[in-house]
Amino acid sequence: MTTPKIVLITGASSGIGQATAVRLAREGHVVVLGARREDRLTALAETIRRDGGVAYARRLDVTDRDDVGAFVDAAAAEHGRVDAIVNNAGVMPLSRLDSLLVAEWDRMIDVNIRGLLHGIAAALPWFRRQGTGHFVTVASTGAHEVVPTAAVYCGTKYAAWAITEGLRREADPGIRVTTVSPGVVESELADTITEAGAKEAMRAYRAAAIPADAIAGAVSYALAQPADVDVNELVVRPTRQR
Ligand code: NDP
Repeated sequence: MTTPKIVLITGASSGIGQATAVRLAREGHVVVLGARREDRLTALAETIRRDGGVAYARRLDVTDRDDVGAFVDAAAAEHGRVDAIVNNAGVMPLSRLDSLLVAEWDRMIDVNIRGLLHGIAAALPWFRRQGTGHFVTVASTGAHEVVPTAAVYCGTKYAAWAITEGLRREADPGIRVTTVSPGVVESELADTITEAGAKEAMRAYRAAAIPADAIAGAVSYALAQPADVDVNELVVRPTRQR
């Protein structure tokens, strides 16, 4: 087992965030779970504790900068430090641009880009003070390729990739930065799609989905490396996805 870390996970109420929380807690890390659905977080934290792990749950809306600041500050005050933040919260209401679902574009920008920036803004001062810390961004293969109905979603994920890469270039020595880009993974992500065509196309596309724990494994791998090893990029696709 690696040295236990205090790991904050946004979007921990389902899918990849939930699987990451379960895996990291089993590995002995202390996990601090954030998302809007508090009931889910509380139930997950209880399950982890029953399993012998240490987990804390706190309602979090990543679109609210103050909320994210309070999430990180509370964990740092409670544990004396924060070792890693997994900026994972995301939404994916896919649609063609000509459907003009502008409110859904805004939501993707708010959660997938602003939410990530809020996580960075909240954790960076702590990491700088500590001289150590690990940022993990959950981007997407959509940060590397664009497909119809995914223009805005991919735009947010390209942005997440670029922001994280910029952070890596700027960060003090001692701070590690990892981007994990999943392919299609079992989760609730496609539930946010309202456009009928995009919803239907996703049904076939998502048939190849792999378990969310495959991505949790990638996060775990990056965290487990020695302090002088920084895993910058991991792309994890289903074998069947091209
Ligand atoms: P889920 O829909 O299962 O999980 C998304 C999580 O984000 C939920 O816990 C949700 O919690 C949280 N979330 C959404 N909005 C907010 C908000 N405003 N504040 C805080 N939390 C929020 O999907 P995934 O697990 O698949 O998604 C996790 C990440 O993985 C996303 O960034 C997604 O883009 C990325 N990804 C997923 C892929 C896949 O195929 N599943 C592929 C590539 C990337 P709540 O609603 O309770 O707030």
